[in-house]
Amino acid sequence: MFQLDRSKAYVGIIAVLTVIAIVLSSLYLPAYFREWGDFYTSFEYAQMYLNDDRYDELIIEYSYVQGFPPSDFARETLLSTIEEICHKDSVVETKNEMIPQRPGRNRYDRDGVEDMLEEYRGNERGEGTMVLYVLYLDGEWSDKPNVLGLSFGGQNIVIFKHTIITVTQRSPNLDVEVVESSVLVHEFGHILGLVGIGYDSEHEDKEHKHHCDESQGSCVMSYTVEIRVGEDSEPPPLEFCTLCMDDLELIRTLEDGRGIEEHLTFMVVASQGAIGLIWIAVCLGKKKQDYEHYHQYYDDYEKDQ
Ligand SMILES: [Zn+2]
Ligand SMILES: [Zn+2]
Repeated sequence: MFQLDRSKAYVGIIAVLTVIAIVLSSLYLPAYFREWGDFYTSFEYAQMYLNDDRYDELIIEYSYVQGFPPSDFARETLLSTIEEICHKDSVVETKNEMIPQRPGRNRYDRDGVEDMLEEYRGNERGEGTMVLYVLYLDGEWSDKPNVLGLSFGGQNIVIFKHTIITVTQRSPNLDVEVVESSVLVHEFGHILGLVGIGYDSEHEDKEHKHHCDESQGSCVMSYTVEIRVGEDSEPPPLEFCTLCMDDLELIRTLEDGRGIEEHLTFMVVASQGAIGLIWIAVCLGKKKQDYEHYHQYYDDYEKDQ
């Protein structure tokens, strides 16, 4: 009886030792886990674009629905922005064959956009090459029809070109290509972590999360770039303000906290560790109980003699 419980306690000890082994290996294997499951935070993706620690080349891949291609001006604006702020040895643009229009399809929800990304995105990140995928759509975003663009999942930008053309026509001051360029750079700014995505920023717009409050002059990260274009709108800015440029410099070098896979590892390890400890506690408790029972029995036996 006594021996059996002790062996149960050993099982608990082995469980705890296993957990310690998992913790130690997870400290040395996060790079492998991250790559295997693509478990990165948006902040980590931002750093992959900004510095050349792991990726020294960048491909900007464009896809577009028939009739709504990216303009040369917008592509050149994004390219020169990237060349200015991302530390890459080479930046290459590729343009895929046009996507045929689907009759009656002009509203896109999250699932619809994700299906399109899955189907048409050609290049994948790897072997020193980072990829930015830009998808131009013919319709509008189903949640908010006046949205001009979105950043999607840390490595994708969606541009609602049809919506951009529609809203631009309301104002004589606006030019489709300028608005399109501003939206494209704005969405890339979100991919790079602006403003305050995964870090604290002093100039984040308090009413419009993750946008610039323009306290140091006009900025492409203003929330107005993305959704509000009215009759009297002025041409939107194409450049980051000095505060946003400072933030990009900070993001490029900032140490990141724990990633998603590390949180998961710690959760699994902590729960297994707790189970192991409870097991040992129960076994030792039972051992003590048996010991007391034995003494009780022995004392009673002695009294009877
Ligand atoms: Zn925005
Ligand atoms: Zn700014």
